[in-house]
Amino acid sequence: MKTLRTALLVLAAAMPAVLAAQSHNPHKPVTHKTASDRPAAVHASAIVIDTHADTTQRMLDENYDLTQPLNGGYLNFASAKEGNLGAEFFSIWVEPTLYKGEYARRTLELIDAVRRQAAKHPDKMMMAYSPEDIERAHREHKLAALMGIEGGHSIEDSLGLLRDYYRLGVRYMTLTWSNSNDWADSSGDINDPKVKHTEDGLTDFGKDVVYEMNRLGMMVDISHVADKTFYRAVITSRAPVFASHSSARALTDAPRNMTDDMLRAVARSGGPNSKGGVVMVNFYSAFISDTWRKAWAAQAPERNAAEEKQIGEWKAEGKTVTYAMTDDLDRQWAAKIPRPPLSMLIDHIDHVAKVAGIDHVGLGSDFDGIPSSPEGMDSAADLPKITAALMARGYSAEDCRKILGGNFLRFFREVQATAKQLQRESPERPEIGKEQTFHK
Ligand SMILES: [Zn+2]
Repeated sequence: MKTLRTALLVLAAAMPAVLAAQSHNPHKPVTHKTASDRPAAVHASAIVIDTHADTTQRMLDENYDLTQPLNGGYLNFASAKEGNLGAEFFSIWVEPTLYKGEYARRTLELIDAVRRQAAKHPDKMMMAYSPEDIERAHREHKLAALMGIEGGHSIEDSLGLLRDYYRLGVRYMTLTWSNSNDWADSSGDINDPKVKHTEDGLTDFGKDVVYEMNRLGMMVDISHVADKTFYRAVITSRAPVFASHSSARALTDAPRNMTDDMLRAVARSGGPNSKGGVVMVNFYSAFISDTWRKAWAAQAPERNAAEEKQIGEWKAEGKTVTYAMTDDLDRQWAAKIPRPPLSMLIDHIDHVAKVAGIDHVGLGSDFDGIPSSPEGMDSAADLPKITAALMARGYSAEDCRKILGGNFLRFFREVQATAKQLQRESPERPEIGKEQTFHK
Protein backbone atom coordinates (compact mmCIF):
# COMPACT_ATOMS: atom_id res chain seq x y z
CA MET A 1 0.00 0.00 0.00
CA LYS A 2 2.75 2.38 0.98
CA THR A 3 4.71 1.82 -2.23
CA LEU A 4 1.62 2.48 -4.31
CA ARG A 5 0.91 5.71 -2.48
CA THR A 6 4.50 6.93 -2.95
CA ALA A 7 4.29 6.18 -6.66
CA LEU A 8 1.07 8.16 -6.91
CA LEU A 9 2.58 11.11 -5.08
CA VAL A 10 5.54 11.18 -7.47
CA LEU A 11 3.11 11.05 -10.36
CA ALA A 12 1.04 13.85 -8.87
CA ALA A 13 4.09 16.08 -8.46
CA ALA A 14 5.09 15.45 -12.06
CA MET A 15 1.72 16.18 -13.58
CA PRO A 16 -0.14 18.82 -11.57
CA ALA A 17 -1.84 20.29 -14.66
CA VAL A 18 -3.07 16.93 -15.87
CA LEU A 19 -4.43 16.04 -12.44
CA ALA A 20 -6.11 19.42 -12.08
CA ALA A 21 -7.85 18.88 -15.40
CA GLN A 22 -9.06 15.45 -14.23
CA SER A 23 -10.76 16.87 -11.19
CA HIS A 24 -13.77 14.58 -11.44
CA ASN A 25 -12.22 11.66 -9.62
CA PRO A 26 -14.86 10.51 -7.12
CA HIS A 27 -12.22 8.92 -4.90
CA LYS A 28 -9.78 11.80 -4.80
CA PRO A 29 -9.18 13.00 -1.23
CA VAL A 30 -11.31 16.08 -0.67
CA THR A 31 -10.55 19.27 1.21
CA HIS A 32 -13.30 20.20 3.61
CA LYS A 33 -14.45 23.68 2.71
CA THR A 34 -17.29 24.24 5.13
CA ALA A 35 -18.03 23.02 8.61
CA SER A 36 -21.02 21.00 7.37
CA ASP A 37 -18.70 19.04 5.04
CA ARG A 38 -16.52 17.76 7.87
CA PRO A 39 -16.80 14.02 8.63
CA ALA A 40 -18.10 14.55 12.17
CA ALA A 41 -20.82 16.90 10.91
CA VAL A 42 -21.71 14.59 8.03
CA HIS A 43 -21.98 11.63 10.39
CA ALA A 44 -24.10 13.67 12.82
CA SER A 45 -26.45 14.68 9.99
CA ALA A 46 -27.10 11.10 8.83
CA ILE A 47 -29.74 8.59 9.88
CA VAL A 48 -27.33 5.80 10.75
CA ILE A 49 -28.83 2.32 10.41
CA ASP A 50 -27.19 -0.97 11.36
CA THR A 51 -29.08 -4.04 10.13
CA HIS A 52 -27.63 -6.72 12.40
CA ALA A 53 -26.76 -6.98 16.09
CA ASP A 54 -27.00 -10.05 18.32
CA THR A 55 -27.44 -8.06 21.53
CA THR A 56 -30.81 -9.77 21.92
CA GLN A 57 -29.20 -12.91 23.40
CA ARG A 58 -27.53 -10.77 26.04
CA MET A 59 -30.87 -9.15 26.88
CA LEU A 60 -32.66 -12.48 27.22
CA ASP A 61 -30.01 -14.79 28.70
CA GLU A 62 -28.02 -12.34 30.81
CA ASN A 63 -30.82 -9.92 31.59
CA TYR A 64 -28.64 -7.27 29.98
CA ASP A 65 -30.11 -3.78 30.03
CA LEU A 66 -28.98 -1.22 27.45
CA THR A 67 -28.50 1.39 30.20
CA GLN A 68 -25.67 -0.74 31.64
CA PRO A 69 -21.96 -0.37 30.77
CA LEU A 70 -20.85 -2.36 27.71
CA ASN A 71 -19.09 -4.98 29.80
CA GLY A 72 -17.48 -6.69 26.81
CA GLY A 73 -20.39 -5.99 24.45
CA TYR A 74 -20.65 -3.68 21.46
CA LEU A 75 -23.98 -1.95 21.97
CA ASN A 76 -25.76 -0.01 24.70
CA PHE A 77 -27.56 3.35 24.82
CA ALA A 78 -24.42 5.33 25.59
CA SER A 79 -22.40 3.89 22.69
CA ALA A 80 -25.36 4.24 20.31
CA LYS A 81 -25.66 7.90 21.25
CA GLU A 82 -21.96 8.56 20.88
CA GLY A 83 -21.90 6.86 17.48
CA ASN A 84 -25.14 8.57 16.37
CA LEU A 85 -26.70 5.18 15.71
CA GLY A 86 -30.31 5.88 14.71
CA ALA A 87 -31.71 2.41 14.12
CA GLU A 88 -30.66 -1.09 15.05
CA PHE A 89 -32.06 -4.38 13.82
CA PHE A 90 -31.94 -6.75 16.78
CA SER A 91 -31.35 -10.28 15.60
CA ILE A 92 -33.90 -12.92 16.52
CA TRP A 93 -31.55 -15.88 16.29
CA VAL A 94 -32.40 -19.34 17.57
CA GLU A 95 -29.38 -21.57 17.97
CA PRO A 96 -30.57 -24.71 16.14
CA THR A 97 -28.91 -27.36 18.34
CA LEU A 98 -29.46 -25.87 21.80
CA TYR A 99 -33.15 -25.15 21.09
CA LYS A 100 -34.09 -28.13 18.97
CA GLY A 101 -37.82 -28.81 19.29
CA GLU A 102 -38.59 -25.34 20.62
CA TYR A 103 -37.66 -22.95 17.83
CA ALA A 104 -40.92 -20.98 17.95
CA ARG A 105 -40.81 -20.65 21.74
CA ARG A 106 -37.26 -19.29 21.69
CA THR A 107 -38.14 -16.97 18.77
CA LEU A 108 -41.07 -15.53 20.75
CA GLU A 109 -38.92 -15.07 23.87
CA LEU A 110 -36.27 -13.16 21.89
CA ILE A 111 -38.94 -10.91 20.35
CA ASP A 112 -40.29 -10.31 23.85
CA ALA A 113 -36.82 -9.38 25.12
CA VAL A 114 -36.47 -6.61 22.51
CA ARG A 115 -39.98 -5.30 23.08
CA ARG A 116 -39.54 -5.31 26.86
CA GLN A 117 -36.37 -3.28 26.52
CA ALA A 118 -38.26 -0.66 24.47
CA ALA A 119 -41.15 -0.65 26.95
CA LYS A 120 -38.74 -0.13 29.83
CA HIS A 121 -36.96 2.85 28.24
CA PRO A 122 -39.56 4.85 26.27
CA ASP A 123 -37.44 7.99 26.54
CA LYS A 124 -34.42 6.33 24.84
CA MET A 125 -35.75 3.67 22.51
CA MET A 126 -38.85 2.98 20.43
CA MET A 127 -40.00 -0.04 18.46
CA ALA A 128 -39.99 0.73 14.74
CA TYR A 129 -41.78 -1.19 12.00
CA SER A 130 -41.36 1.04 8.96
CA PRO A 131 -39.05 3.60 7.32
CA GLU A 132 -41.36 6.31 8.69
CA ASP A 133 -40.91 4.96 12.23
CA ILE A 134 -37.12 5.11 11.82
CA GLU A 135 -37.41 8.75 10.74
CA ARG A 136 -39.72 9.56 13.66
CA ALA A 137 -37.31 7.99 16.15
CA HIS A 138 -34.52 10.07 14.61
CA ARG A 139 -36.52 13.28 15.07
CA GLU A 140 -37.26 12.33 18.67
CA HIS A 141 -33.60 11.43 19.37
CA LYS A 142 -34.45 7.84 20.25
CA LEU A 143 -32.90 4.61 19.10
CA ALA A 144 -35.26 2.91 16.63
CA ALA A 145 -35.41 -0.79 17.51
CA LEU A 146 -36.31 -3.20 14.72
CA MET A 147 -36.21 -6.98 14.53
CA GLY A 148 -34.96 -9.46 11.95
CA ILE A 149 -35.18 -13.22 12.23
CA GLU A 150 -31.90 -14.98 11.53
CA GLY A 151 -32.68 -18.43 10.19
CA GLY A 152 -35.83 -19.70 8.46
CA HIS A 153 -36.02 -22.64 10.89
CA SER A 154 -37.77 -20.20 13.27
CA ILE A 155 -41.02 -20.53 11.27
CA GLU A 156 -41.06 -24.32 11.79
CA ASP A 157 -42.34 -24.77 8.20
CA SER A 158 -45.45 -22.72 8.96
CA LEU A 159 -46.59 -19.70 6.97
CA GLY A 160 -48.93 -18.97 9.88
CA LEU A 161 -45.94 -18.53 12.20
CA LEU A 162 -44.25 -16.34 9.57
CA ARG A 163 -47.30 -14.07 9.56
CA ASP A 164 -47.43 -14.08 13.36
CA TYR A 165 -43.81 -12.95 13.54
CA TYR A 166 -44.59 -10.14 11.11
CA ARG A 167 -47.52 -9.08 13.32
CA LEU A 168 -45.17 -8.97 16.30
CA GLY A 169 -42.90 -6.60 14.40
CA VAL A 170 -40.31 -8.74 12.62
CA ARG A 171 -39.31 -7.00 9.38
CA TYR A 172 -36.72 -9.29 7.81
CA MET A 173 -35.75 -12.92 7.81
CA THR A 174 -32.58 -14.60 6.58
CA LEU A 175 -33.85 -17.64 4.71
CA THR A 176 -31.31 -19.75 6.63
CA TRP A 177 -28.71 -19.37 9.34
CA SER A 178 -25.63 -21.66 9.19
CA ASN A 179 -28.01 -24.64 9.13
CA SER A 180 -30.04 -25.68 6.09
CA ASN A 181 -33.74 -26.10 6.81
CA ASP A 182 -36.50 -28.12 5.09
CA TRP A 183 -36.91 -25.54 2.31
CA ALA A 184 -33.65 -23.59 1.85
CA ASP A 185 -29.92 -24.36 1.90
CA SER A 186 -27.22 -22.73 3.97
CA SER A 187 -23.65 -21.81 3.04
CA GLY A 188 -22.76 -23.32 6.45
CA ASP A 189 -23.51 -26.95 5.60
CA ILE A 190 -23.97 -27.03 1.82
CA ASN A 191 -20.91 -29.30 1.46
CA ASP A 192 -21.96 -31.63 4.27
CA PRO A 193 -23.24 -34.86 2.69
CA LYS A 194 -25.01 -35.82 5.93
CA VAL A 195 -27.39 -32.86 5.54
CA LYS A 196 -30.40 -33.12 3.23
CA HIS A 197 -30.46 -30.33 0.64
CA THR A 198 -32.98 -29.00 -1.85
CA GLU A 199 -32.70 -29.66 -5.57
CA ASP A 200 -32.49 -26.08 -6.79
CA GLY A 201 -31.94 -23.89 -3.73
CA LEU A 202 -35.55 -23.49 -2.61
CA THR A 203 -38.33 -26.08 -2.47
CA ASP A 204 -41.81 -25.11 -3.70
CA PHE A 205 -42.66 -24.34 -0.09
CA GLY A 206 -39.50 -22.19 0.13
CA LYS A 207 -40.75 -20.20 -2.85
CA ASP A 208 -44.09 -19.78 -1.06
CA VAL A 209 -42.20 -18.46 1.99
CA VAL A 210 -40.43 -15.87 -0.17
CA TYR A 211 -43.67 -14.86 -1.83
CA GLU A 212 -45.51 -14.56 1.49
CA MET A 213 -42.64 -12.41 2.81
CA ASN A 214 -43.05 -10.17 -0.25
CA ARG A 215 -46.78 -9.95 0.34
CA LEU A 216 -46.36 -9.12 4.05
CA GLY A 217 -43.57 -6.59 3.50
CA MET A 218 -40.94 -8.67 5.29
CA MET A 219 -37.52 -8.10 3.71
CA VAL A 220 -35.95 -11.17 2.09
CA ASP A 221 -32.47 -11.49 3.57
CA ILE A 222 -29.99 -13.68 1.72
CA SER A 223 -27.12 -13.50 4.25
CA HIS A 224 -26.07 -17.03 5.24
CA VAL A 225 -27.74 -18.89 2.35
CA ALA A 226 -25.93 -21.21 -0.06
CA ASP A 227 -25.09 -19.75 -3.47
CA LYS A 228 -27.78 -21.71 -5.30
CA THR A 229 -30.37 -20.58 -2.74
CA PHE A 230 -29.21 -17.01 -3.25
CA TYR A 231 -29.86 -17.13 -7.00
CA ARG A 232 -33.16 -18.96 -6.57
CA ALA A 233 -34.33 -16.34 -4.04
CA VAL A 234 -33.32 -13.46 -6.34
CA ILE A 235 -35.39 -14.81 -9.23
CA THR A 236 -38.30 -15.82 -6.98
CA SER A 237 -38.70 -12.58 -5.03
CA ARG A 238 -41.06 -9.90 -6.36
CA ALA A 239 -39.36 -7.32 -4.14
CA PRO A 240 -35.64 -6.54 -4.15
CA VAL A 241 -33.58 -8.67 -1.74
CA PHE A 242 -30.80 -7.67 0.64
CA ALA A 243 -27.91 -9.04 2.68
CA SER A 244 -28.23 -7.85 6.29
CA HIS A 245 -24.65 -8.78 7.23
CA SER A 246 -22.31 -10.04 4.48
CA SER A 247 -19.08 -8.76 2.98
CA ALA A 248 -17.23 -9.20 -0.35
CA ARG A 249 -15.85 -12.60 -1.36
CA ALA A 250 -13.46 -11.09 -3.94
CA LEU A 251 -11.53 -9.62 -0.98
CA THR A 252 -12.09 -12.30 1.65
CA ASP A 253 -12.87 -15.80 0.45
CA ALA A 254 -15.48 -16.81 3.04
CA PRO A 255 -18.61 -18.66 1.86
CA ARG A 256 -20.63 -16.19 3.97
CA ASN A 257 -19.42 -13.36 1.71
CA MET A 258 -20.80 -12.46 -1.69
CA THR A 259 -19.11 -12.81 -5.06
CA ASP A 260 -19.03 -9.80 -7.39
CA ASP A 261 -21.71 -11.45 -9.51
CA MET A 262 -23.93 -11.76 -6.41
CA LEU A 263 -23.28 -8.11 -5.46
CA ARG A 264 -24.50 -7.06 -8.91
CA ALA A 265 -27.47 -9.45 -8.70
CA VAL A 266 -28.61 -7.86 -5.40
CA ALA A 267 -28.30 -4.40 -6.95
CA ARG A 268 -30.49 -5.50 -9.86
CA SER A 269 -32.97 -7.57 -7.84
CA GLY A 270 -36.69 -6.77 -7.65
CA GLY A 271 -37.69 -6.57 -11.30
CA PRO A 272 -37.44 -3.98 -14.08
CA ASN A 273 -38.93 -1.02 -12.16
CA SER A 274 -37.05 -1.74 -8.95
CA LYS A 275 -34.26 0.45 -7.60
CA GLY A 276 -32.62 -2.77 -6.34
CA GLY A 277 -31.43 -4.19 -3.04
CA VAL A 278 -28.54 -3.44 -0.68
CA VAL A 279 -25.54 -5.27 0.72
CA MET A 280 -24.90 -4.37 4.35
CA VAL A 281 -21.23 -5.02 5.07
CA ASN A 282 -20.35 -7.29 8.02
CA PHE A 283 -17.55 -6.14 10.40
CA TYR A 284 -16.36 -9.62 11.45
CA SER A 285 -12.56 -9.99 11.16
CA ALA A 286 -12.92 -13.38 9.41
CA PHE A 287 -15.14 -11.81 6.74
CA ILE A 288 -12.99 -8.75 6.05
CA SER A 289 -9.43 -10.14 6.32
CA ASP A 290 -8.26 -13.27 4.54
CA THR A 291 -5.24 -13.44 6.88
CA TRP A 292 -7.48 -13.42 9.93
CA ARG A 293 -9.89 -15.91 8.35
CA LYS A 294 -7.04 -18.36 7.64
CA ALA A 295 -5.58 -17.99 11.15
CA TRP A 296 -9.03 -18.67 12.66
CA ALA A 297 -9.46 -21.75 10.44
CA ALA A 298 -5.97 -23.04 11.32
CA GLN A 299 -6.83 -22.70 15.00
CA ALA A 300 -10.10 -24.62 14.59
CA PRO A 301 -9.06 -28.18 15.54
CA GLU A 302 -7.39 -27.07 18.78
CA ARG A 303 -10.13 -24.54 19.56
CA ASN A 304 -13.03 -26.92 18.91
CA ALA A 305 -11.48 -29.64 21.06
CA ALA A 306 -10.84 -27.23 23.95
CA GLU A 307 -14.34 -25.74 23.70
CA GLU A 308 -16.02 -29.13 23.56
CA LYS A 309 -14.10 -30.16 26.67
CA GLN A 310 -15.17 -27.01 28.51
CA ILE A 311 -18.82 -27.38 27.45
CA GLY A 312 -18.72 -31.00 28.60
CA GLU A 313 -17.45 -29.88 32.00
CA TRP A 314 -20.17 -27.25 32.33
CA LYS A 315 -22.82 -29.79 31.47
CA ALA A 316 -21.37 -32.27 33.97
CA GLU A 317 -21.66 -29.54 36.60
CA GLY A 318 -25.35 -29.23 35.70
CA LYS A 319 -24.99 -25.79 34.09
CA THR A 320 -27.16 -24.63 31.18
CA VAL A 321 -24.78 -23.71 28.39
CA THR A 322 -25.82 -20.39 26.84
CA TYR A 323 -24.66 -18.53 23.76
CA ALA A 324 -22.91 -16.01 26.02
CA MET A 325 -20.76 -18.77 27.49
CA THR A 326 -19.67 -20.23 24.14
CA ASP A 327 -19.24 -16.73 22.71
CA ASP A 328 -16.89 -15.92 25.56
CA LEU A 329 -14.78 -19.00 24.74
CA ASP A 330 -14.62 -17.94 21.07
CA ARG A 331 -13.53 -14.44 22.07
CA GLN A 332 -10.66 -15.81 24.14
CA TRP A 333 -9.40 -17.78 21.13
CA ALA A 334 -10.01 -14.88 18.73
CA ALA A 335 -7.93 -12.61 20.96
CA LYS A 336 -4.85 -14.72 20.13
CA ILE A 337 -5.02 -13.49 16.51
CA PRO A 338 -4.05 -9.85 15.77
CA ARG A 339 -7.08 -7.79 14.72
CA PRO A 340 -7.19 -6.51 11.14
CA PRO A 341 -6.89 -2.74 10.62
CA LEU A 342 -10.07 -0.68 10.18
CA SER A 343 -8.98 0.08 6.61
CA MET A 344 -9.87 -3.50 5.65
CA LEU A 345 -13.49 -2.92 6.63
CA ILE A 346 -13.46 0.26 4.54
CA ASP A 347 -11.99 -1.75 1.63
CA HIS A 348 -15.08 -3.98 1.70
CA ILE A 349 -17.50 -1.04 1.79
CA ASP A 350 -15.53 0.54 -1.06
CA HIS A 351 -15.55 -2.70 -3.07
CA VAL A 352 -19.32 -3.18 -2.74
CA ALA A 353 -19.86 0.49 -3.65
CA LYS A 354 -17.76 0.06 -6.80
CA VAL A 355 -19.15 -3.32 -7.91
CA ALA A 356 -22.83 -3.08 -6.88
CA GLY A 357 -22.98 0.72 -7.01
CA ILE A 358 -23.00 3.52 -4.45
CA ASP A 359 -26.79 3.09 -4.01
CA HIS A 360 -26.43 -0.54 -2.92
CA VAL A 361 -24.17 -0.60 0.11
CA GLY A 362 -24.69 -0.15 3.85
CA LEU A 363 -23.68 -1.33 7.33
CA GLY A 364 -24.53 -4.66 8.96
CA SER A 365 -22.06 -4.81 11.85
CA ASP A 366 -22.99 -8.15 13.46
CA PHE A 367 -22.18 -6.49 16.81
CA ASP A 368 -22.37 -8.94 19.71
CA GLY A 369 -22.45 -11.85 17.28
CA ILE A 370 -18.76 -11.85 16.32
CA PRO A 371 -15.70 -12.82 18.36
CA SER A 372 -13.45 -10.24 16.66
CA SER A 373 -13.80 -6.90 14.89
CA PRO A 374 -11.22 -4.61 13.24
CA GLU A 375 -8.93 -2.40 15.31
CA GLY A 376 -10.65 0.69 16.64
CA MET A 377 -14.15 -0.72 16.10
CA ASP A 378 -14.91 -1.62 19.70
CA SER A 379 -18.54 -0.54 19.95
CA ALA A 380 -21.26 1.49 18.24
CA ALA A 381 -19.46 4.60 19.53
CA ASP A 382 -16.79 4.00 16.86
CA LEU A 383 -19.17 4.23 13.87
CA PRO A 384 -18.12 7.85 13.05
CA LYS A 385 -14.67 6.45 12.17
CA ILE A 386 -16.25 4.81 9.13
CA THR A 387 -17.54 8.14 7.84
CA ALA A 388 -14.15 9.77 8.45
CA ALA A 389 -12.34 6.96 6.60
CA LEU A 390 -14.76 7.05 3.66
CA MET A 391 -14.41 10.82 3.31
CA ALA A 392 -10.63 10.50 3.44
CA ARG A 393 -11.01 8.23 0.40
CA GLY A 394 -13.02 10.85 -1.44
CA TYR A 395 -16.58 9.82 -0.69
CA SER A 396 -18.86 12.85 -0.63
CA ALA A 397 -21.20 13.80 2.22
CA GLU A 398 -24.12 12.58 0.13
CA ASP A 399 -22.42 9.23 -0.60
CA CYS A 400 -21.74 8.76 3.11
CA ARG A 401 -25.33 9.45 4.08
CA LYS A 402 -26.43 6.83 1.54
CA ILE A 403 -24.07 4.23 2.97
CA LEU A 404 -24.87 5.08 6.59
CA GLY A 405 -28.62 4.51 6.13
CA GLY A 406 -30.12 6.26 3.10
CA ASN A 407 -29.75 3.28 0.78
CA PHE A 408 -31.35 0.94 3.27
CA LEU A 409 -34.31 3.30 3.85
CA ARG A 410 -34.95 3.46 0.10
CA PHE A 411 -34.85 -0.34 -0.14
CA PHE A 412 -37.14 -0.78 2.92
CA ARG A 413 -39.66 1.66 1.36
CA GLU A 414 -39.72 -0.28 -1.87
CA VAL A 415 -40.28 -3.60 -0.06
CA GLN A 416 -43.27 -2.09 1.74
CA ALA A 417 -44.65 -0.53 -1.48
CA THR A 418 -44.34 -3.88 -3.25
CA ALA A 419 -46.23 -5.52 -0.38
CA LYS A 420 -49.08 -3.01 -0.67
CA GLN A 421 -49.32 -3.71 -4.38
CA LEU A 422 -49.32 -7.49 -3.88
CA GLN A 423 -51.96 -7.18 -1.15
CA ARG A 424 -54.19 -5.19 -3.53
CA GLU A 425 -53.75 -7.85 -6.18
CA SER A 426 -54.37 -10.76 -3.80
CA PRO A 427 -55.80 -10.03 -0.36
CA GLU A 428 -55.81 -13.77 0.18
CA ARG A 429 -52.52 -15.44 -0.48
CA PRO A 430 -52.74 -17.48 -3.68
CA GLU A 431 -51.20 -20.91 -3.51
CA ILE A 432 -48.28 -20.85 -5.87
CA GLY A 433 -46.79 -24.18 -4.83
CA LYS A 434 -48.61 -27.45 -4.27
CA GLU A 435 -46.27 -28.58 -1.55
CA GLN A 436 -47.62 -26.23 1.12
CA THR A 437 -51.06 -27.94 1.03
CA PHE A 438 -49.52 -31.24 1.97
CA HIS A 439 -46.73 -29.88 4.09
CA LYS A 440 -46.23 -31.71 7.38
ZN1 LIG B 1 -25.29 -14.18 11.08
